[in-house]
Amino acid sequence: MVAKNANFTIAVYPGDGIGIEIMAETRRVLAAAQAAVGGFALELTPYACGAGYYQESGEEISDASFEAGRNADAILLGAIGLPSVRKPDGTEISPHLRMRQEFGLYAGVRPVKLYPNVKTPLADARARNIDLIILRESTEGLFASVGKGEVIDDREARETLVITRSVTERLTDQAIGLARGRKAAGNGKGLVTCVDKANVFAAYAFFRKVFNERMDKASDLARAHAYVDAAALDLVRKPWEFDVMVMENMFGDILSDLAAGLVGGMGMAPCAEIGDEHGLFQPAHGTAPDIAGMGIANPSAMIVSAAMMLNWLAEKHDAPALADAGRGIERALEIGFANGSVRPYDLGGDTGTAAIADAVMAALPEALGA
Ligand code: ATP
Repeated sequence: MVAKNANFTIAVYPGDGIGIEIMAETRRVLAAAQAAVGGFALELTPYACGAGYYQESGEEISDASFEAGRNADAILLGAIGLPSVRKPDGTEISPHLRMRQEFGLYAGVRPVKLYPNVKTPLADARARNIDLIILRESTEGLFASVGKGEVIDDREARETLVITRSVTERLTDQAIGLARGRKAAGNGKGLVTCVDKANVFAAYAFFRKVFNERMDKASDLARAHAYVDAAALDLVRKPWEFDVMVMENMFGDILSDLAAGLVGGMGMAPCAEIGDEHGLFQPAHGTAPDIAGMGIANPSAMIVSAAMMLNWLAEKHDAPALADAGRGIERALEIGFANGSVRPYDLGGDTGTAAIADAVMAALPEALGA
């Protein structure tokens, strides 16, 4: 039994397109886990923002809704933006990118795991063991140049990549924490791989140097180094050998989608964006306007992102009941895939969004008992 009682406020931004649908179903799963585990209470408050809200109000998000995210214990986000709705400068509606910067969410945690019965394009049987984390730095790197790039006389274009010691140190510390947690839970190898291009660029050599300095203090873990091109090759050749991979923003942007392709695509790609104070949890995919409103979106990535939120809150606040619920939800999804009650449309199945949530809730008792 869990003795500690813990109450948490969650700012919920469903967003647009399938974000709204997968959020509704994920909230049902969270409520079921809370009822089944007990010992904690989540107060989820939804806030409007995104493309639909922009069409109504002329702003991406209200100041009050934005600040609600800052003041909440955690942020749960569906997906935001529609290609058909643009600001006058032609860019899409993206208040979550502002959250990433303002809330200092430098650590993008992207689990890559192959669930039972989900097909992988890899023929090797060892691919069934794919279970790794891509830790993508999310506030600097090449993306530090967003909005600052210049095209000179229609002749050449320039963007500047930024790596800071402060963020790289804390990013590496996050990687160390993840590797230790996975090792303790029995699903990690205690290995952190630094992915860079240190043989060519000073910025990546600096990234590697700072990584090594931090890793020197983690003698319980093994470390490896891979140039990004070799890492891409090995993610296809032998992804089961990786554990936690840490890298600059642009490299993480590309390799995390490549890795998602090994385990069923974007519907299977959860994400946590972590800073020193704040945590934002959202699937890595977008609003999928092509299937919005049809009830066929795969909520798996959103559900696992919500479970990651519970695990993060549990660790931050020393509240083990939330960790029980978080692990229970992940395990219930795994059971659903294993027993065939979860067969998402994007993976060639016929289980709709609500039916997948139903299947996860049905598997919760078994998952929590295990
Ligand atoms: P963004 O740039 O906002 O990430 P995008 O246009 O690159 O978005 P998505 O919105 O993620 O991409 O959609 C890409 C494709 O993947 C679409 O065909 C979409 O239907 C599919 N897709 C994405 N997420 C899901 C999901 N959860 N369930 C089913 N299909 C999905």
